[in-house]
Amino acid sequence: MTPSIKLNSGYEMPQVGFGLWKVDNAIASDVVYNAIKAGYRLFDGACDYGNEVECGQGVARAIKEGIVKREDLFIVSKLWNTFHDAERVEPVVKKQLADWGVDYFDLYLIHFPIALEYVDPSVRYPPGWHNDEAGTIIKPSKATIQETWTALEDLVAKGLTKSIGVSNFQSQLLYDLLRYAKIRPATLQIEHHPYLVQQELLNLAKHEGIAVTAYSSFGPASFQEFNMKHAAKLAPLLEDATIKSIADKYGKSASQVLLRWSTQRGLAIIPKSARQETQISNLQSTDFDLSEEDIATISGFDKGIRFNQPSNYFPTELLWYFG
Ligand code: NAD
Repeated sequence: MTPSIKLNSGYEMPQVGFGLWKVDNAIASDVVYNAIKAGYRLFDGACDYGNEVECGQGVARAIKEGIVKREDLFIVSKLWNTFHDAERVEPVVKKQLADWGVDYFDLYLIHFPIALEYVDPSVRYPPGWHNDEAGTIIKPSKATIQETWTALEDLVAKGLTKSIGVSNFQSQLLYDLLRYAKIRPATLQIEHHPYLVQQELLNLAKHEGIAVTAYSSFGPASFQEFNMKHAAKLAPLLEDATIKSIADKYGKSASQVLLRWSTQRGLAIIPKSARQETQISNLQSTDFDLSEEDIATISGFDKGIRFNQPSNYFPTELLWYFG
């Protein structure tokens, strides 16, 4: 049984979920359907992943076959950067809900605190970061986070999502958001693995009662395919000798140790895997406890190295986001 985390919105969120980034459209429906059969209840989607229609088809099939009911699932989606202007929020959420084939999200996040110029979904969807095919133009919008957050609060009032939260926010912005938020963010989703611990940000979230979801729990593993130089230079965490020896001690896999390091410290996790064997081992990663000493050893890997930032994907003469 997957443990859950009680959110400040009053809802329970499964602590282990399934990430949908880079799940190919051709297989997304089957992947979601099979993940539900394997026991996953939380799915972490986004406009930007470009596969919400297919993921929704997997959900519909599982519901139709009576494997789950809608209320058994916890569906997460995210607002892309080009929809931050207040009047753009509700229409795109309604489109995303229609894509999923559901009438509410359980959690809806601001994907990045970066407001970009609106792109009409009929022109390009998902819109991505750039305003040109060559990927050289990035145009900001004037929307503030307060404007966007207020629009997310309206979604809750209208029943389009049960909880709202943020992703890729740092402490400074959270402090600011908390000054005006009528609904406090239920969750903060961040890159979190032993090479990027962000302990002060975790301390703030805990102090403020905001649940943290870790993404890219295996560190460089998710980013090798983007040819990031620092991802290639770092030792893969899944093959690291220290992590492996800790895993051997508990009769677990290195992946389960990396995931447990997060969940035992109270974070939620959303690993992605297309293989049934790893799907199950990721889901079953909460049934053992690491010693405090082993947790400290893994936390000691921290190098403050971030993979998921715009400047690692493309030349960003116009965007220094994590500066
Ligand atoms: P991940 O850590 O889930 O997966 C990385 C790689 O590890 C994948 O190639 C996967 O196939 C492999 N893998 C998974 N389980 C394994 C296992 N048990 N053994 C060996 N290999 C295994 O990385 P991710 O996809 O970057 O992150 C997870 C999810 O987090 C995403 O799918 C997405 O939903 C979310 N995410 C959010 C943001 C954001 O900006 N909010 C950014 C990145 C990811």
